[in-house]
Amino acid sequence: VKATGKGHYNFFKPELYQKLKERVDMERALELAIEEDQFVLYYQPRVNAETGKMTSMEALIRWMRPDFGLVPPIEFIPIAESNGMILRLGDMVMAKACSQIAAWEKELLPIVPISINVSAKQFSAGALPKKLSDCIKNWGVDASLLEVEITESAMMGEDNAIIADLCEIRELGVKLLVDDFGTGYSSLSQLQRLDMDVLKIDRVFTNELTKSKEGDIFFKAIVSMAHALDMTVVAEGVETQEQVNALRRLACDEIQGYFISRPVPANCVPELLLKQFLL
Ligand code: C2E
Ligand code: CA
Ligand code: CA
Ligand code: CA
Repeated sequence: VKATGKGHYNFFKPELYQKLKERVDMERALELAIEEDQFVLYYQPRVNAETGKMTSMEALIRWMRPDFGLVPPIEFIPIAESNGMILRLGDMVMAKACSQIAAWEKELLPIVPISINVSAKQFSAGALPKKLSDCIKNWGVDASLLEVEITESAMMGEDNAIIADLCEIRELGVKLLVDDFGTGYSSLSQLQRLDMDVLKIDRVFTNELTKSKEGDIFFKAIVSMAHALDMTVVAEGVETQEQVNALRRLACDEIQGYFISRPVPANCVPELLLKQFLL
């Protein structure tokens, strides 16, 4: 509130108005983007830490916004989550991933499973298992070629609806991954009860490796507990050879990050599928 003199106060804040306007413009643009299908999926490999063999690829959404270029998800996913558009976006990601798997299969490429990111809102809105199963059937892909990533924080609260959905998704034969592990407050026993297959350790912890003793100790503890609970461990955000060496020493199963490959558009995937990653 600015004093404008003569005892008047100015409640009108140009910055606030600007923010509001940007938000409204963004929502309109998003709405149009969904109608006009301005989204593409990029793919980032995950590889075995010992052999370098690709185990999966993560589908990461990008918005090809006319006159703006490639917009990263951080700039529109939170908005889509707050206004409900994430449901349509989520359906679209699922369909794009399945149709892409089918296309690569048709080209007889040595495909690996594709993991898709699912937001908590998609669970609470219901019908996620049914949507996944319809999508799989519709595109004629094997359920084992699809994986679902759900962030640790999205899984919290012991929400019964989420638990039931996770069970059903599992029964379809779709693998379940815990994303951004270490940033939420779940216990590993809780995750095991939900029968999660893979633990993806958040990149902030990979970043601590080789920097501090605590960093290595934390990682080591997670890996051994996860293994005892029959879960596969993935390190996210691996950027250096040093980190790769440390992760191998700590018996981490799989790695993902710029050191292996940045996320790439679909047309670059065939080359990646045929590539031998040397670690
Ligand atoms: P995420 O699921 O944790 O994905 C990993 C993010 O880290 C990606 O950012 C990826 O490009 C980036 N990354 C990978 N390797 C490295 C590395 O070595 N160093 C660094 N600094 N970064 C790395 P991106 O693609 O911008 O996605 C950001 C987030 O947006 C994702 O985080 C995910 O939460 C969300 N997201 C992406 N696609 C979707 C989607 O289809 N649906 C939903 N609901 N969320 C999505
Ligand atoms: Ca993810
Ligand atoms: Ca992550
Ligand atoms: Ca298990």
